[in-house]
Amino acid sequence: MKLIDFHTHHESLQGEVVIQQGVHSWGIHPCQAAEEENYTFLYSREWMALGECGLDRLCQTSWDIQERVFRKQIQLSEELRTPLILHCVRAHAEMLALQKELRTSMPWICHGFRGKPEQMRQLTAHGWYLSFGTFFNEESVRLCPPELLLTETDDKPIAVRSVYERIAQVRGISVAALAAQMWKNYEKLFGKRSI
Ligand SMILES: [Zn+2]
Repeated sequence: MKLIDFHTHHESLQGEVVIQQGVHSWGIHPCQAAEEENYTFLYSREWMALGECGLDRLCQTSWDIQERVFRKQIQLSEELRTPLILHCVRAHAEMLALQKELRTSMPWICHGFRGKPEQMRQLTAHGWYLSFGTFFNEESVRLCPPELLLTETDDKPIAVRSVYERIAQVRGISVAALAAQMWKNYEKLFGKRSI
C-alpha cells in the first residue's frame, strides 16, 4: 500500500502519494503576507488544498495584514470547496474565533502540529485535522482521533515512511494499519480527486 504525505515541500522520494506545496496546494504564508497581499489567485485544477496559510505570532508581518490575507484565503477555500492547510503559530484561539465567525464548512488541516493533548482535544473537537511530522507530542499522537490524524514530512528531506513508523509505534498499531487509516482520511478529505 502506498503511503501518503499530506504536506511536503518536495517531490515523492519513495513512490509516496504526496501533496506537494506549490504544486497540489498553494497559498500565501503569513510570513510572506506583506509582499503578496495583492496577489491574484489563479485557480488551478491541480490544487487539492489551499495553503499553507494562517497566522503566526512570531513572524515579522503585521497582524492586520496577516489576518486580512488569511480571511481572503478562508473565503476562497469556501468558494472553491477546497480544504485549507493551516500554518498556525501561537494563534489557535484566533483561528478558532475566525472559524466560528465565518461559519466555515470546509476541512481545516493544522500542519506540523506539536501541541499538547489539551490543545489536540480542543482543535479536534472543532473538527480540525492534525497533521504530524518529525516533531510531535507523543501523548497527542497517541490520543488523537484516528479519523482526524494525518502524516507529513513538511520541508524535511525524508521519506514519509519514517514518520509512519514512529506514529504507528506510539499508537501501538502496524504501519499497514496506519496506512489504511490515512487512505480513509485522504478519501474523506479529497473525495475522488487524485494526484
Ligand atoms: Zn510547510
